[in-house]
Amino acid sequence: MECIFCKIASGLMPAKIIYQDDTIIAFDDIYPCAPIHKLIIPLKHISTLNDLSLEDKALVGHIIYTAKHLASDLGIAEDGYRTLINCNRYGGQTVFHLHLHLMAGRQMQWPPG
Ligand code: AMP
Ligand code: ZN
Repeated sequence: MECIFCKIASGLMPAKIIYQDDTIIAFDDIYPCAPIHKLIIPLKHISTLNDLSLEDKALVGHIIYTAKHLASDLGIAEDGYRTLINCNRYGGQTVFHLHLHLMAGRQMQWPPG
């Protein structure tokens, strides 16, 4: 198994896990870009947003819905937060296992770099 997020999903690699169920897992980003920086990933390997199939629609909805609940649990919902998915080279993707970034705790800038 080459994929580091598959390793985290299967427990082979440690991570600070904050949420887990039968289809997704959420954990701290190891190099946080904000005071709060979590990643939400599917347990199953999907390389990029380009690789989503029709059957993954509910899974992606579940990831985003979980981001909403985590934001509430983390106390960041009111002040606000940023969620994003990078895709491939121009998107700045570095880990090729689909993940949603959940970042908060500082003023985000727009447009992003
Ligand atoms: P992206 O650039 O969108 O592919 O984001 C990949 C993210 O994964 C980056 O923010 C990294 O800091 C983070 N990351 C890489 N390796 C690990 C790891 N072992 N545990 C937690 N986060 C990681
Ligand atoms: Zn993977």
